Amino acid sequence: MDFKFSEEQEKFRQDVRDFLEEELRQGLWQPSCDAWIQGYSPEFTKRVAQRGWIGLTWPREYGGQGRSHIDRLILTEEMLRYGAPAAAHWFADRQVGGSIIAFGSDEQKRELLPKIIRGEAYVGLGMSEPEAGSDLASLKTRAIEDGNDYIIDGQKMWTSCAHFMNYIYLVARTDPEAPKHRGISEFIIETSLPGITISPTIDITGSEAWAEVFFDNVRVPKRCLIGEKNRGFYQIINQLDYERAGLERLMGNYPLFDAIIKFVKETKRNGKPLSQDTLIRHKLAQLQIEFEVGHLLTYRVFMVIEEGRAPTVEAAMAKTYCTDFEQHLANTAMEILGLYGQLVAGSKLAPILGMAPHSYLGSKGYSLQAGTSEILRSIVAMRGLGLPRE
Ligand SMILES: Cc1cc2nc3c(=O)[nH]c(=O)nc-3n(C[C@H](O)[C@H](O)[C@H](O)COP(=O)(O)OP(=O)(O)OC[C@H]3O[C@@H](n4cnc5c(N)ncnc54)[C@H](O)[C@@H]3O)c2cc1C
Repeated sequence: MDFKFSEEQEKFRQDVRDFLEEELRQGLWQPSCDAWIQGYSPEFTKRVAQRGWIGLTWPREYGGQGRSHIDRLILTEEMLRYGAPAAAHWFADRQVGGSIIAFGSDEQKRELLPKIIRGEAYVGLGMSEPEAGSDLASLKTRAIEDGNDYIIDGQKMWTSCAHFMNYIYLVARTDPEAPKHRGISEFIIETSLPGITISPTIDITGSEAWAEVFFDNVRVPKRCLIGEKNRGFYQIINQLDYERAGLERLMGNYPLFDAIIKFVKETKRNGKPLSQDTLIRHKLAQLQIEFEVGHLLTYRVFMVIEEGRAPTVEAAMAKTYCTDFEQHLANTAMEILGLYGQLVAGSKLAPILGMAPHSYLGSKGYSLQAGTSEILRSIVAMRGLGLPRE
């Protein structure tokens, strides 16, 4: 197997690096952990858009670049390596645009894709509800037809960056009488519509990156329905593969990985360099082994996508493994830093900008969001190993 990138691909990687280095040189943002999901910067997103780097793989007729998924892998890998604030466009670029291309009408493609590509449409993911997470098909939010509109009532929770986003990708029940998987549809709606209330959820790290979204008699035109009415559950399954597939599941905390290695190289404890402590050396080496394995698993996902296959099992394996790695990384960083490692960003005594406690607390959610590790292992057992459904 040859995992070398072509000359053009390496050149593209360098272009992305040069762009990000220049942004850093100008002090436009600071690298941070979780920046793909918490680093909301429409200004950064617009600068990325100007380079044609949103919708890189989408068809040219809708304003995309028609480039390969490997190019997108390279682009996202560098964004993550630098901890760049890409949250405003990440979800639309990663999965929503692909769903519009796969299931949307021509009118929706012409209206929405260029807006995403220009860095003007920021789309949050409205799937989970208080009683519908792993079992998404149990969702209760309703969209009932009324003339040329749907009327939406219900509640979503954990909607990523909802209070920043101007659109929400919503899954709602359109046929309450049908069996639960068969009465669900997908919509894209504007978050500014009357009747929508967004209430940020403050998580254990103090971040407000998620929200509860309440829908009270919200009237949306029928043209907001994506794809076929009542087929939404089957459509969303396709989108989830992309949600799980990316390097953000491995490299969301790359700035911490980079910083802890530098810290070990530069720090002495009790007169002895940390880099000569066998235990610490082995801990870092173990992380590096896991990082490489995670990379290979994720590269494989992109190769499957590039071949036009659905990476359901590959993405489930990669996400389970990679989020384990990220939790291990955060634990190890806390162990190496010792007591001062608990100080959060903002404290002048906090080592490595307080990244470690943020990751330590934040990484608990990684093995829940986008499908819990238990659910993903069940997918591998069933679809990968052919074991019977539980
Ligand atoms: C940080 C974070 C960000 C998120 N972002 C979004 C977002 O942007 N949009 C969105 O819609 N949702 C989002 N979610 C929600 C996420 O998708 C759900 O939390 C997840 O699907 C689990 O659902 P639940 O929380 O209801 O837990 P449950 O489904 O109630 O699960 C509880 C526990 O039971 C286990 N379990 C459940 N069913 C089974 C089973 N059949 N077999 C074995 N074990 C099982 C689970 O693994 C878990 O450990 C986010 C969640 C987090 C934590």
